[in-house]
Amino acid sequence: MRPDILNPLFAEVATLDGVGPKLRKPLDRLGLTRVRDVLYHLPDRFVSRRAIANLDEGSVGEQVVVKLTVREHRAGASQRAPLRVMAEDAAGNYLALIYFGKAGYSARKQLPVGAVRWVAGKLEQYDQSWQIVHPDHVAEEGGAAMGRLCEPVYPLAEGLTQPRMADFAAQALVRLPDLPEWITPSQLARAGWPAWAEALRLAHRGDNPLARDRIAYDELLANALALMLVRADNRRRRGQALKGDGRLRARLALPFPLTGAQQRSIGEIEGDLAQDTPMLRLLQGDVGAGKTVVALEAMLIAVEGGAQAALLAPTEILARQHFETLRRMAAPTGAEIALLTGRDKGRAREATLLGLLDGSIDIIVGTHAIFQDSVAYRNLGLVVIDEQHRFGVSQRLALAGKGRLAPHTLAMTATPIPRTLTLAQYGEMDVSRLDEMPPGRQPIDTRVIALDRLEDVVAGLGRHLAEGRQAYWVCPMVSDSETIDLAAAEARYGVLRERFGAEAVALVHGQLTPEAKDAAMERFVRGEAGLLVATTVIEVGVDVPNATLMVIEQAERFGLAQLHQLRGRVGRGAEKSVCLLLRGETLSDVARERLALLRETQDGFRLAEEDLRLRGGGELLGTRQSGDAPFRLATLEQIQRLAPVAQEDARLLVEHEGEPGTLGGPRGDAARILLYLLERDAGVRTLRGG
Ligand code: ADP
Ligand code: MG
Repeated sequence: MRPDILNPLFAEVATLDGVGPKLRKPLDRLGLTRVRDVLYHLPDRFVSRRAIANLDEGSVGEQVVVKLTVREHRAGASQRAPLRVMAEDAAGNYLALIYFGKAGYSARKQLPVGAVRWVAGKLEQYDQSWQIVHPDHVAEEGGAAMGRLCEPVYPLAEGLTQPRMADFAAQALVRLPDLPEWITPSQLARAGWPAWAEALRLAHRGDNPLARDRIAYDELLANALALMLVRADNRRRRGQALKGDGRLRARLALPFPLTGAQQRSIGEIEGDLAQDTPMLRLLQGDVGAGKTVVALEAMLIAVEGGAQAALLAPTEILARQHFETLRRMAAPTGAEIALLTGRDKGRAREATLLGLLDGSIDIIVGTHAIFQDSVAYRNLGLVVIDEQHRFGVSQRLALAGKGRLAPHTLAMTATPIPRTLTLAQYGEMDVSRLDEMPPGRQPIDTRVIALDRLEDVVAGLGRHLAEGRQAYWVCPMVSDSETIDLAAAEARYGVLRERFGAEAVALVHGQLTPEAKDAAMERFVRGEAGLLVATTVIEVGVDVPNATLMVIEQAERFGLAQLHQLRGRVGRGAEKSVCLLLRGETLSDVARERLALLRETQDGFRLAEEDLRLRGGGELLGTRQSGDAPFRLATLEQIQRLAPVAQEDARLLVEHEGEPGTLGGPRGDAARILLYLLERDAGVRTLRGG
C-alpha cells in the first residue's frame, strides 16, 4: 500500500489546470501520467535569450527574441516538406520560420501574413539565409519579457509547448507535500543539499547543481535500496540446489567449440545452481558474444537437476527468435521447449499452461506473459532474463522470485557498460563476463562517408538488395524534436520506397503501436522486406544474419555506445558486412574522434569506456533514442560520484538494529516512502508478501 502522504503526487496529471484531452497524447508520450511525473520531468537546460533589434545583431546558434513582420507562407513541395513562414525584421533581413508536420497548422493561424510578432528561438543559418526551426515562443506583444534571463527548456512532445510545460510544472510544485527526510541531517549539511521539496523547486527554476545532485542521489539511493532488499529477501528464501548430471548437455551437438569465456561463465553458473541459496547473477557480454548458448547450458543444467527453466525476452519478436534458436540447438537433447507470449490465446495457450503445470514442458520461452498469475509451474528452478531494457532490474528480479521456493536468476545484458557503472546499476549481483568473442568473426568494414555522396550510397544499396541480401537504414537524428526526426525519417522512407518498391521496404519508428512495430519487424526478419528503415528503435537483440549492410545517417549525432549497438545488427553471418556512417557537413572534434574510434575497434567495452571519457559525464545515460535509460535523473558523472555514497547509505539503512535486510526505524520509514515515490517498491512488496 502506498503511503497516503504521497496521494497528491500520484493524482492524475489531468487534475492540473489546462490539461485537456488534447494534451493527453503528448503527455503520455513523455511518460507524464501523474503529478509526480511532472515534478520529475526536469528541464534539460536553461536558456538565456537576448532581445535583438534585427538579425544583424544575432549570431548563429544564439537564442534570441526578435520582432518580425510576416510576409509569406511557403508550403512544401510535398506533403512531408515543412511549412516555411517568411518574415522580415526591422532592417529588411529575411528569416524563415520552419514548421514540420502538424505544427504547420497552428503556425498559419499564429502567424498570418502581414502580422507583426515577437519570435523567440535559436538562430540558425542554412544556405546563407537565417532560419529558426520550431520557434519556442510566438507572441503579439511582451517581447521584452521573453528576453528574460533564465528560461527552462523542458523535453517536449508534439502538441506541447514550453510555456504550457512550465505552467504544469509550476502547478505541480504547489502541491509538494513535506516528506520525512531519508537523508541524515549531517549528510545534508555536509553536502549542502536542500531538502527534498526545495530541491525540486530549485531544479525547475534554474541551473542548480546542488539541487540536481540531491535529486540524482535520491534516485541512486532508491535503486541501491531496491536491489539490496531484493537480494536480502532472496537470501532469506530457500532455493533448490540443482545439480546437473550432464546427460542432456552431453547430447547437445553444438556446431562450434565454446569460447573460454563461455566455459568460465557456465562453470560459475553451475556452481551457483548447485547451492540452495538462489543465484542472482548477471551475464555481461557484448553484442554477438554468444550469451544464448550460455543461457541454454544453464537451463539444461536446471532441467537435468529436475526443475523447469524460463527465458524472459523483452519483446514478442525476440521471444520468438530465441524460441526457434533454442529449439534448433536443443533438439538432440530431447528437452521439451515451448513458447508463450501475450498473443497466444485459446487452445494452444491452454496446452502450454497445462504442460507447465504437469511438468512436461522443460523450458519455456516468452515475454512477461510467462509470469502472469494464471501461469503456474510444476517446479520453476531457473529464470533467465534477456535484459535488454535494464531499467527496473529490481522489479524484474522481484517478479521472477514469485514462487514458493525462489528460483535461481540469471540476467543477461548486451550493452557493455563500464565497470564503474555496473555496481550502481545492478547492485550486488554476481557478475560473469563474456570478454572474448567467438573466433572467426569477420570484422565489419566500417566507413565514414560524407552525406553529399548519398546518391552513391543508395545506388550501392540497390546492388546489395538485388543480390538478395538485406540492409538496415537508420534515419537521422535531426534535432531534439521527435516530430522533426520523424518527418525526416518519413521523408527518407518515402524516397527509398519509391526507389525500391513498397514491398521491399519496411519502416519502424517510436510512434508506431507495438503491434505495428512487430509486424514491420516480422516482414524484415522473414526476409519479405529487404530493407528496414528505422528511427533507431531497431530492437537491440534482433538477429538477421542475411542483413549485412547498415547505413546510419548523420552518425555524428549519435553516441558511441549507440552506434556500436546499431552496428552490431550486422556481421552476424558468414558474409562480410559493411557499416556506412553518413556524416553531415560540419563535424565537431569529439564527433570526429567518435567516428574514428568506431572505425578502429569493435570492442564494445573499450568503446563504452571511451564513450564515457568523450562525453565527460555530463549527459544522461539513456538518451531519448536509446530507449533504455537505467537512470532517468542521474547523469553519468553523478552516478560515478554519488553511487558509491548511495550504496553505502543503502547498506546502513538495511543493516539497522532491527531485523537486518528490512527497512526499520524512522529513517527506514522515510526511505520506504522514497521507494514508493520513485516506484522502486518491488523489493518492499516482496518483503511484505513473501
Ligand atoms: P548475443 O551475446 O548477442 O546474444 P548470440 O548468442 O546471439 O549473441 O550469438 C551470436 C552468434 O554467435 C550466434 O550465431 C551463435 O550461434 C554464435 N556463437 C555463439 N558462441 C559461439 C562460439 N563459441 N563459436 C562460434 N560461434 C558462436
Ligand atoms: Mg542475444
